[in-house]
Amino acid sequence: MIKGSCLCGKVKFEISGEPFSLSYCHCSRCRKAAGVFSAVLIGKADDLLITAGQGEIAKFKPETDSKFERCFCKECGTSLGDMASGEVYVVAASALDDDPKIRPSVHIHTTSKPDWYDIIDDLVKFDGDYVAPA
Ligand SMILES: [Zn+2]
Ligand SMILES: [Zn+2]
Repeated sequence: MIKGSCLCGKVKFEISGEPFSLSYCHCSRCRKAAGVFSAVLIGKADDLLITAGQGEIAKFKPETDSKFERCFCKECGTSLGDMASGEVYVVAASALDDDPKIRPSVHIHTTSKPDWYDIIDDLVKFDGDYVAPA
């Protein structure tokens, strides 16, 4: 069980099962929502359970037809990821309280990273999405 929460503690969640991957996402949305990039834990949607503060989670879709939905705490603004918009959860690893045991394996959406930020490790880079296990 991997536990997570927001900064103010109103939103709490638990992840069961094995996550598929831990990725560094460089997409333009993560850049604006979470910092220069975000570390995202990806797994099966059914394995994510919101245990507290479901009503405190605000959702933002950049475009109405987008499958991406940014979830964040209404109270403290903590980025929670894209918690339930498809068959996988995409949880912001920054909100985790436990060690997910898995380590980052890939950089995704690297073509969207800003020019002023250089990736200096040797992890595999993908132009777009990567969801499958490493
Ligand atoms: Zn909060
Ligand atoms: Zn992203």
